[in-house]
Amino acid sequence: MEPNFLIGANPMPLYKAFPGEFKPDAGINVTGSTIRGIEGSYTIDPFPVAQTKRNHYDSRHGAKIKYLIMHYTVINFALTVQTFTANADTRRVSAHFVVAQNEAHVAAGKLLQVVPEDMRAWHAGLSAWQADEDLNPVSLAVEHVNQGFRETTGAQRQYYPYDQNQIRSSGVLSNSIVRQYNILPRHVLGHEDIAPGRKYDPGPYFPWAVFYHNYSVGAWLDQEEMDKDAIIRKYRPQRPYPLQPDRDVLLDMLTSYGYSLRGTTPSGVIRAFKTHFSANQRPDMCDDNVREEDMFWAWALEAKYSNITPSKTTPSPPSHIPNFAQKAPHKMWFLILAIQAIIRISNL
Ligand SMILES: [Zn+2]
Repeated sequence: MEPNFLIGANPMPLYKAFPGEFKPDAGINVTGSTIRGIEGSYTIDPFPVAQTKRNHYDSRHGAKIKYLIMHYTVINFALTVQTFTANADTRRVSAHFVVAQNEAHVAAGKLLQVVPEDMRAWHAGLSAWQADEDLNPVSLAVEHVNQGFRETTGAQRQYYPYDQNQIRSSGVLSNSIVRQYNILPRHVLGHEDIAPGRKYDPGPYFPWAVFYHNYSVGAWLDQEEMDKDAIIRKYRPQRPYPLQPDRDVLLDMLTSYGYSLRGTTPSGVIRAFKTHFSANQRPDMCDDNVREEDMFWAWALEAKYSNITPSKTTPSPPSHIPNFAQKAPHKMWFLILAIQAIIRISNL
């Protein structure tokens, strides 16, 4: 028996957890568990002292988690795990969670935790949002196994779609994270949002609308909010509705919303915004041209989400996920009524 087997509640070598995917000598042990409601998940056990450079994380130095950042891997599941557990002198790169896509020996939606939540993963690199620079200490990261894109002859990038089961796992995971850490809707972001022009993940096919509608994760507009007058009625925006496409006005709205121009170009910021919002699911529209719909989205999002404190925006969970936190207030009231009844009885 190898000594590492003693770590964790139910540890096993990685190759036994994912048969056919890894070699027996990978030297990685995992513990099977249910992570944030997702059964059949695994956590990589910390490496022993002699191999401490295979732990791709370090301290948050007291920083609080306030962002959730979405990525795609470009490489497959096995290679992702190998990269995140190789000697860190070669490359420091990791994420807290890896959500698998459908591969020969791995089922889509399978969840592997690589970095403990209280530790800093190395995923964001040069990054900025609002006044924050370097988002690693203040964020959690989810990597989605996805090949990204390939260049085609017409210079048009061909992006790979996401698997439904993969999105379901990621949605359930993210919903739980966002509620626990009270992460603001506009602090759930793609890597490209915080590093525009430098990074392109999670790409135009990442279904942000599904995360919003099905899992109460991130910022988006409801169907009835796709209307100028509805936005004015509901949010009373300070900024007048922009009458025509204007690059400077768009950039002003985007930087007010959170995008940062530090270390990047206006084009990069506009493309990142369109990929996430106004041209999401339409890769051919994810360019830096400014259209009316881009102006509308930027204006509406700024009106809906700017200057909102965390307590007002705690997302309510979707109905199919049990929410014990939400039931707690009812229990509290019951307790108060019971105590009042006892006081009344004892006063008789
Ligand atoms: Zn990334």
